[in-house]
Amino acid sequence: PHAASDRLTDGLNPQQREAVEYRGPALLIVAGAGSGKTRVLTHRIASLIDRREAWPSQILAITFTNKAAAEMRERVQALLGDSASGMWISTFHSACVRILRREAEAIGLSSTFTIYDSADTRTILKRIIKELDADTMGFTPAGAQSKISKLKNELSDVETYARNANTNDPHEVMFLEIFRQYTRRLRDASALDFDDLIAETVYLFRAFPKVAALYQRRFRHLLVDEYQDTNHAQYALIHELTRPVDPMIVAELDAHGVLVQGMTDASGAIPGASLTVVGDSDQSIYAFRGADIRNISEFERDFPGAKVVLLEQNYRSTQNILSAANAVISHNFDRKDKKLWTADGDGEKITGYTGYTAHDEAQFVADEIEVLHRAGVAYRDIAVFYRTNAQTRALEEIFVRSALPYRVVGGTKFYERAEIKDAMAYLIAVANPLDELALRRILNTPKRGIGPATETALASFGEQNALTFRQAMRAADGLGLGPKVTGAITKLANVLDEAAAMLVPNAEAIAAGTNEGAAKVSDVLAFLLDRSGLLETLRNSRDPQDETRAENVEELLAQTKDFDRENPGATLVDFLTQVSLVAAADELDDASGTVSLMTLHTAKGLEYHAVFLTGIEEGLLPHQMSATEPGGPAEERRLFYVGITRARKRLYLSLAMSRAQFGEVAVAMPSRYLQEIPEDLIDWKQSPGMATSRGGTQPRALNARRGPGQGGAGGGAWGTRDRDLDRFSVMKSAAPKAEWANKVTGTVRDNGDLTLEAGDRIRHTDFGEGRVMQVTGEGTKRIAHVAFDTAGQKKLLIKIAPIEKL
Ligand code: ATP
Ligand code: MG
Repeated sequence: PHAASDRLTDGLNPQQREAVEYRGPALLIVAGAGSGKTRVLTHRIASLIDRREAWPSQILAITFTNKAAAEMRERVQALLGDSASGMWISTFHSACVRILRREAEAIGLSSTFTIYDSADTRTILKRIIKELDADTMGFTPAGAQSKISKLKNELSDVETYARNANTNDPHEVMFLEIFRQYTRRLRDASALDFDDLIAETVYLFRAFPKVAALYQRRFRHLLVDEYQDTNHAQYALIHELTRPVDPMIVAELDAHGVLVQGMTDASGAIPGASLTVVGDSDQSIYAFRGADIRNISEFERDFPGAKVVLLEQNYRSTQNILSAANAVISHNFDRKDKKLWTADGDGEKITGYTGYTAHDEAQFVADEIEVLHRAGVAYRDIAVFYRTNAQTRALEEIFVRSALPYRVVGGTKFYERAEIKDAMAYLIAVANPLDELALRRILNTPKRGIGPATETALASFGEQNALTFRQAMRAADGLGLGPKVTGAITKLANVLDEAAAMLVPNAEAIAAGTNEGAAKVSDVLAFLLDRSGLLETLRNSRDPQDETRAENVEELLAQTKDFDRENPGATLVDFLTQVSLVAAADELDDASGTVSLMTLHTAKGLEYHAVFLTGIEEGLLPHQMSATEPGGPAEERRLFYVGITRARKRLYLSLAMSRAQFGEVAVAMPSRYLQEIPEDLIDWKQSPGMATSRGGTQPRALNARRGPGQGGAGGGAWGTRDRDLDRFSVMKSAAPKAEWANKVTGTVRDNGDLTLEAGDRIRHTDFGEGRVMQVTGEGTKRIAHVAFDTAGQKKLLIKIAPIEKL
């Protein structure tokens, strides 16, 4: 036995070990949260390599996020004590991009194709809907987008859809036209949207069996994590990749010398790759994106003779947390009953809290985090989850006020900022000259006197003469547009051409297929920013927001420099791909000492010492959108289950009695799911009525009140609350809303429009005196970055921070 073998199976329980060591065509590992599914996958990969049963390059492992992929790669390498380069460990999307960039030409696509994000898709649909007057029939960009996405996830392209469409239904005919135009525009721009990445790879494999055979031959072991969240297109892709290669194609591969010796069976075929999938149907939370739990339940039918391994023991959480999770999920019908258990003991009870308002709830969260922190729990081992992004507002306000280091995961949306999209559009226009969307974006950004009429003229001139938008720009002098406008267009086209020329590798490099001699991404970006005038325009602007925008663009430049340093020899297209594929959870940075705030969807697969589940209210969880949909409440319950099972030691459940939504403060009701947790598991720590110590400005009537679990005799916790809510809403209507909300929380201070700028000295009630280093943000969200004389650096929300200007 090899030295590493013990390390590979040590510390695994017998079922886990069986799953690591099983060899056969198909293996399904089904198990609840925290039972070591991901760990088993990692050990299995290491064991295949360690025992020389597979080369690293024969492994394709699919994870849910890029971060999970990086982690898995690191762990495999740690287990092997060796770098295992050549393994493909990535998300479905990244793997497909890699395949498509190599094989693009086969399906008539440029290998520098652009990847459109959701905002790009909506921009295009908006144009199409406007041109077709489809808005009068009730079409919206978002609606069309979600319908097209669903179709693509079911591998229904526009022709398939057209064949089955009801041509007597004007609505359907219109949708078909939108879908058709959308497809054509992406084609013309050599662009793919997110759903295309998977679907096009499936089409590629189906249309070109020889291309498929190259990958079927290469990947001998396919491993998929979070299988419960695969949709039909991903399922089909897995099928294509694990298909046997028939002897005819094998013979042809052989003739080209690309066959690995000893791979064929007696009939001359290459047998299908072995497939391992792990999943938990209780954690399926992406039905709205077409995920299909049946992919798990039908695995045994699709792969006859598949081995199934069940894992039961949980290694993540305390028994109290698991009992709550078990109790909640047992309310879903149509599931195999499985109970999570741990050998590690009950642990502490779950802590519950009902706030008057979202701010009050947020204050509770912030206070508890400080308690945990003082007890030695690192900030990075604490997470706060919520159902909707809007809920971060109250949390952030209080966290800033409390000077708590935090990070909204997936909330910064750096690459969605207009100025970053502008700068990126320059890069895209250089990488993919066919991309009309990018070209039209930069045509008059920064302003160079090219108006919408000119833009339209260029577009239709191109259309009439079968020219791309870029070619139309080149031919602009024939359009009779006037010398100034024509000059501006020509100048832009020249800048793009020059940048493109910078990217050409030298002659030997081209022959060798490397990128030697090509300018670095950061140099190209610097050139474009300079010559387009984009950065200068922002810097010279009198709009104070432009200063922040300029900083953001400079930050992008810094990022390209990092990219160049970390990826020597990488191309501009590599950079653009990387940017397109970052998912929310990828932004997590374990090294930074901050509390993570994220949606429940983003939390999948992660674990933290302490977890706060906030806003456990009807309308949020279950979300009002899904409450009435078939299967909606069950899916939302799984989401709650996912949230609960992220916690290792401490779980906090909180809600508010009132919550502002869509600008209205409304009474909130406890989520139905709360009542599914046995009462004795939750310690309702603090009820709103007892919160007098904080702020102390609550109206008297509220002070004697009790929350759930403290409703006294008769177990009337919920009944008590209902009455309370009634009185509460009477009060509410008696006072103007904002004023009332401030009074109740007792936390919201208002500095009005205190104007601060860099260099000002201020005094903070807790931190003492300090100097303002800079001010960012706008309006009520202005933040002062302050270097305190003794308390270090802090960021303060100017509107509400307890500060005064000196
Ligand atoms: P999820 O369903 O949430 O994705 P999972 O089934 O993938 O969970 P893992 O993340 O692999 O579970 O494991 C959960 C935790 O338990 C991890 O911290 C892992 O290191 C630990 N763990 C798993 N198996 C064992 C074991 N046999 N001994 C000790 N710790 C283990
Ligand atoms: Mg996992």
